Amino acid sequence: MHEASLAGSVLQLVEDAARRDGFRRVAMLRLEAGQLSGVEPRALRFALEALAPGTCLQGATVEIDEPAGQAWCMACAATVAIAQRGDACPRCGGWQLEPTGGIELRVIDLLVHDD
Ligand SMILES: [Zn+2]
Repeated sequence: MHEASLAGSVLQLVEDAARRDGFRRVAMLRLEAGQLSGVEPRALRFALEALAPGTCLQGATVEIDEPAGQAWCMACAATVAIAQRGDACPRCGGWQLEPTGGIELRVIDLLVHDD
């Protein structure tokens, strides 16, 4: 499962930060999974919850933002909203679109317990 390996990467990133910054437990983890990132947020949340026990993510609240997809249309020379990769331009119906927004999976914010 794609999301399981992504969840592993996210956990790795958080544990690296825990070692670097000296915290043990995460209160809240906020992620961004853009609508064009190819990540299914519910599957990612499920995979993170499965990995969390025994790690610094145990008991952490996970929030996943889902920014809308955006693309640059070469024909219109404009940024347009698209729901998924491969969609046609909603303005001109063209296919020369370059995704520019909502394409990333990344950690936005990490709140830690002080103890
Ligand atoms: Zn267009």
